[in-house]
Amino acid sequence: MSGVAQRRDAVLSPEFRRPAAAASAAPRVGVLALQGDFREHRAMLEGLGAATSEIRLPGDLDGIEALVIPGGESTTIGKLMGHFGLIAPIKARALGGMPIYGTCAGLITLAREIAEGDQPVLGLIDIVARRNAFGRQVHSFEADLDVPLFGAPPLRAVFIRAPWIESAGANVEILASWQGHAVAAREGRVLVTAFHPELTGDTRMHGAFLSMVRAARNEAGATGACAVAPAEEVVS
Ligand code: GLN
Repeated sequence: MSGVAQRRDAVLSPEFRRPAAAASAAPRVGVLALQGDFREHRAMLEGLGAATSEIRLPGDLDGIEALVIPGGESTTIGKLMGHFGLIAPIKARALGGMPIYGTCAGLITLAREIAEGDQPVLGLIDIVARRNAFGRQVHSFEADLDVPLFGAPPLRAVFIRAPWIESAGANVEILASWQGHAVAAREGRVLVTAFHPELTGDTRMHGAFLSMVRAARNEAGATGACAVAPAEEVVS
């Protein structure tokens, strides 16, 4: 067999096709589905080209490369995470580099500490969160937020019994504030927003999260830390 034919055979053989398929694979994002608006997150992420799944038990974490913790009731989410044995495995995956995005109750759940609160938290971002900081359900509101990361137009943000970020460590990047209070932040591979982009048509925050997921995949591919091949641009 000629060298060219041999190379063509090699290119066509399944062993050589598999890496190409992995490179173009959609980001696999798990959405914690114990309580809250996980369906809306799934719909938005799927619309952006991600493959999503619902996370209820530790074993569900196996196939995913990123996690979203939705809005809802953080006391309930925290209790159920404890009940189903999810706290330690989520922490372990985060410390291993898995990107996580939390909205509203998700922000509270990811915080290092809750101001005047006593409920289970993951402590994966160096912030102190204050629950219901903008008031009760009747004080829920929508606002046009300036997010320098995105530029114009402002981001339409839905606040429902929302927390704010009362204080943040030096490594936390504040991405947006409302009335002088930080409401979106990022530290390493953890992203949090006090509001709910998943309830609007504006996909930029979820798009930013998927960029973090792709970057994490690329870094893992470059260091050989993980079997997942570098991602192709799957989300615009
Ligand atoms: N106030 C809720 C809590 O403290 C969060 C509300 C929300 O996720 N929209 O858990």
